[in-house]
Amino acid sequence: MTIEQSSNYSFGTRAIHVGAPIDPTTGAVIEPISLSTTFGQSEPSKPLGIYEYSRSANPNRDNFEQAVASLESAKYAIALSSGSATTALIIQSLPVGSHIISGGDVYGGTHRYFTKVANTHGVKATFVGNLVEDLESNLTNDTRLVWLETPSNPTLQITDISKIKEIVDKHEAKTGNKIIIVVDNTFLSPYISNPLKFGADVVVHSVTKYINGHSDVVMGVLATNNDVLHDKFRFLQNAIGSIPSPFDSWLAHRGLKTLHLRLRQASYSAQKIAEYLSSSPYVIHVNYPGLKGHKNHDVVLKQHRDGLGGGMISFRIKGGAKGASVFTSSTKLFTLAESLGGIESLIEVPAIMTHGGIPKEERESNGVYDDLVRVSVGIEDTDDLIADVEQALQKVKGL
Ligand code: PLP
Repeated sequence: MTIEQSSNYSFGTRAIHVGAPIDPTTGAVIEPISLSTTFGQSEPSKPLGIYEYSRSANPNRDNFEQAVASLESAKYAIALSSGSATTALIIQSLPVGSHIISGGDVYGGTHRYFTKVANTHGVKATFVGNLVEDLESNLTNDTRLVWLETPSNPTLQITDISKIKEIVDKHEAKTGNKIIIVVDNTFLSPYISNPLKFGADVVVHSVTKYINGHSDVVMGVLATNNDVLHDKFRFLQNAIGSIPSPFDSWLAHRGLKTLHLRLRQASYSAQKIAEYLSSSPYVIHVNYPGLKGHKNHDVVLKQHRDGLGGGMISFRIKGGAKGASVFTSSTKLFTLAESLGGIESLIEVPAIMTHGGIPKEERESNGVYDDLVRVSVGIEDTDDLIADVEQALQKVKGL
């Protein structure tokens, strides 16, 4: 099914059928992995089919891209070798001297790219705590891009994308400067939210997480409806060569076909676990978008499918850094490991793991304290997961 043919179908049907043609030569229902790096031509510069060289395009990558574009309600998607390569490509598309404004509470690697790599190419970043409140006053004549994660990582703050769009549009009308809004949608996946519908120009994912969903592929993807941006990114990707392999594209495409089932289950369990944690005497505060008490629950109801909170939770535990360490070393089903979005539950301490590279003061100003624990809820049985949290919390008693 093509993107055009898919518009009347719902998410699960599109996940299974878009970019999944029956192989015309063998009738195979599942696409073969196309490993050839080069493709035959009938005369010079007249390829036999639509492919020439696998860095520029490959059937498995194409099929995966079509599926993602359909699920993000986008015209185009471009798959890359990692989520980080996706960030790098977008930032490299900016002119020298550009200024970007980013939410402060972003993935550590994104922060590292903005502060330690983008600056060497003449792109400057400003981080702000609350984009809706602080964006306008930080816009300059050179601002070309606004970057945000919603929910943010790891404190799961929610940003109203349509409000960011309003501020950017107002600035554009006044100055004539075009600013692109990029939303990192890794934490929700296209099943729960489609940022392009709320005013984002580009949506990005670390496919490594929910889209692939099985913790066995590192890959990234971006999606957009903007023809000019798409052409620019496509050109840059071919020039730079930041492509995923056919095998990874095939695996990620297979993973994507169950995204809706995995996300529904993970969100269901995460909601129950977040409610359980909220009532525990060993927990100081729970960040979870699905909780009615979440600061931006009204935006969640607007921006998320069925008000789902997603599979990520973070919470401050009693006992400081020691409490976080004891708890995360005591769970039996939640593996202590970085990353997220897989079928298996994971747990980590951002201050010394994923966000360890951010200076303490800056980290804490974004709520990433030493006692913060981040949980990626998998699709194991809900009751088993709650029992595991319960027994690990008992170990924190008296700390
Ligand atoms: N964005 C978010 C929200 C992430 O959590 C990550 C990785 O953890 C990335 C981007 C980078 O993706 P990758 O590890 O695929 O390069």
